[in-house]
Amino acid sequence: MFPKHKRIKNKKLIDEMRKPFCELCRKRTNIEPHHVNTVGSGGGDIPINLIQLCSECHIKAHSGLIKKETCEHMIAMREGISYEEVHRLNRKAMGYDV
Ligand SMILES: [Zn+2]
Ligand SMILES: [Zn+2]
Repeated sequence: MFPKHKRIKNKKLIDEMRKPFCELCRKRTNIEPHHVNTVGSGGGDIPINLIQLCSECHIKAHSGLIKKETCEHMIAMREGISYEEVHRLNRKAMGYDV
């Protein structure tokens, strides 16, 4: 469904995903979308790979202070599916054989 090596940012999807608050700490300032699996590493512009973070949580997510698993748990709750499913679908979107 998603071409493996396409690196186009899906602006519309990101706008649709945009929540007015940080999905981790619920702060309402400086909110930006974060790819759980970076686009550079093959992560897709798909809802289960995107989370809205405030600039502080965003920095923590990139420095490893906030774990990828934590983001995937939040996405799982938001999407109403299990963490395992989020993890599996993200890996699949990245082209892994899961
Ligand atoms: Zn935050
Ligand atoms: Zn990010």
